[in-house]
Order: sequence, then C-alpha cells, then structure tokens
Amino acid sequence: MSGIYLHIPFCKQACSYCNFYFVTRTSEREHFVKRLIEDIKSYGDTRFSEETVETIYFGGGTPSLLVPAQLEQIMQALYEVFDIDPREITLEMNPDDVSAQFLSDLKSLGISRASMGVQSFEPELLEFMHRAHSSEEAMQCLELLSASDFKSFTVDLIYGNPGQTTEQLQRDVKNLLEFNPPHISAYSLTVEPRTRLGKQVELGRIAPPEGDMVAEHFDIINQLFSRQGIERYEVSNYSIPGKEAIHNSNYWEHENYLGLGPGAHSFWWDDKAERWENEQDLRKYLRDEDHLEKEELSLTQLAEERLMMGLRTRKGIGFENLKQRYNYTFNDRQLEYIERMVDEEKVVADEGVKLTDKGIKIADAIILDLVTLH
Ligand code: SF4
Repeated sequence: MSGIYLHIPFCKQACSYCNFYFVTRTSEREHFVKRLIEDIKSYGDTRFSEETVETIYFGGGTPSLLVPAQLEQIMQALYEVFDIDPREITLEMNPDDVSAQFLSDLKSLGISRASMGVQSFEPELLEFMHRAHSSEEAMQCLELLSASDFKSFTVDLIYGNPGQTTEQLQRDVKNLLEFNPPHISAYSLTVEPRTRLGKQVELGRIAPPEGDMVAEHFDIINQLFSRQGIERYEVSNYSIPGKEAIHNSNYWEHENYLGLGPGAHSFWWDDKAERWENEQDLRKYLRDEDHLEKEELSLTQLAEERLMMGLRTRKGIGFENLKQRYNYTFNDRQLEYIERMVDEEKVVADEGVKLTDKGIKIADAIILDLVTLH
C-alpha cells in the first residue's frame, strides 16, 4: 500500500510565513501539467507502480490554480500507470479559487477530500500573513463547501500570530466551527528564516510570537474544538472520530509514498529505506534536468523518526511496534526518564508511550530527551 503526493508549485502571491516551494509566475501551468504527466508515465512498470495506491494528495503551492481539465489529465495518467484503489484523494485549495462549479467538477474527477487554506477570518491577520483572499471569500467558500457533496473536508487555521489577541482567536474558531468541519489542521505560526516574516523578525520590525501566548492559544483551540467533538489526534491535527487524514497519517507510520513535482518529498522502504526531495527548481523540472539526492536511512534512524512522529500523535508509539519493525528497545536511562515523565503527568506508559495534554505542549523537548538518552 502506498501514497502519491503531487506538488503543484504555483501561488498567486507569497504568504509572509510560507516556507514551501512555489513560484508566483503562473504562466507555466500548462507546460507543467504536460511535464508532470510525462513524469507520472515514467514510473510505469517500476517498483513504485507495483504497490496498490490508496491515497493521492494534491499539495503545493496552490493546486486549485489548475483548471478541472488539467486535473483530469493528471488523474487519467495516474490511473494508467498505478494500481489505484482510492481511500482518500485530497486537493488543497484557496478560498479565492473556489466556486460551486469547481467543487462539483472536482467531485466528478474522484477527488474525495477538500483541504481549504483559510488561516484566519480576521482582515487584519489575513493582511499580516499576506494571504490572497479576503475574510468574506473565506466565509463564502466554506458555505459552498458545507453545501457541496464533499463529506470529507479539512480547513487550515493559523494561531499564535504576533499581536493576535485571544478574542481574535476565539472569533476565528467560532466562525470556523459554524461550518461543522470534520477535520481541522491548526498550526502555530512558525518563523522560518527565508521568508518575508523571517526577514521582518531578523530586522527587528516584528517581535516573534511569545511562547506563553502560543500555549494559551493552543489551550483555547483544544477546548473549543473538543466542545464540538473535534479532538486532537496529532499536535496540529484535529477531527471528529473516523475523519482523521489517511494520507498524512501514513507519513507518520512510515508507509511508502512517492512525491512528484519540484520540491516534493518521497519515502520508500522495501529492501532498503530511502528518502529524497526533488530539486526545488521549476525551470529545471520543466526541462527534465532536475536532480535529486537519495538518502539511505539506517534502522536506528528510522526508529528515532518513528518515535518522533509517533509521540506527536494521540495514539503514541507501542513498544512492540518499535521492537518488531525497528529492532528498537528503550534502555534503562530512557525507561527512568519515561517514569519521571509519568510522575509529572506528561506521559502515559502501558504497552507503549504517549504524551498527555500537558506533555504534548513540550513534545519536542520530551522527544529530544528520549532520543538523546539512547
Ligand atoms: S501558504 Fe500556500 S498559498 Fe501561501 S505561499 Fe505558501 S503554498 Fe502558496
């Protein structure tokens, strides 16, 4: 079983915090689609086309900048090359690209899950994040989405913006919950060095988000979502029961996935485990001159990764899974540390380990301690 990720690297404008690979010249879309289809076809009769594909994810960039006819050609090529038995086909979209017709066309193409990048409904915050859509567009697209045939959809929200008040956050959450989203990804704003926001922080024009404020926002979100039956199942992901994202959950469990398009990542584990990232260069991709460097991962590296990803999820990680699949057992120092974390109510340990609500707030620190004690 495997997944396919397609990176559609076009955006109308650069959001201030964004660290993904994208270009703002959109004139090359048609050429890109042709090249992507060639790329897909080059995987026919390879080890990558032998496994059944259960999830497809159109990410970016902004996949909704492609028209349905282009998406249809891509889907056709995928079905020609891969053995696809779809459990989930997701497409990321931005509010300013969505119409009732667009949603209905996507549905006819077999796209089963819509991922809407709203981030906020507050005009001031949308401007700060340099988003291309307005508050009204965000509302309208969610109305269209909840009235559409998409039973499965997710909305992205960003909290912890510098200067964002708790009232603003509560309003954002309230506005969002009115549309009964089955799934929400809520991210705390991170300041990445090579972004517009990163530069502004570096120049001292903006103060980075404060830890206490971010923790308070996290609590508000958890509480308000939970009241509506939307529970956290990973640090940044929330859903009603049964609506957890399949494609993303597979990343955390080391299932195989093939990434196509500039900047896409892949992970494949058969007789050896490898990870690679396609070169972040659309021009080279269009000329089929892009390079990738594969990194082979040892079983210890894989175990540590699994530990890191597993501890960020509500399920945690089972001792048996670590032993069977990764030949990894905790040593005495790690077990002592886990015991201490249990006493401090940050960890629950039975047949494995998982973080409590208190522990999840310092997940990165706990994971780092555990890994370095090995
Ligand atoms: S956040 Fe999304 S829309 Fe904004 S620049 Fe990044 S990829 Fe494009």
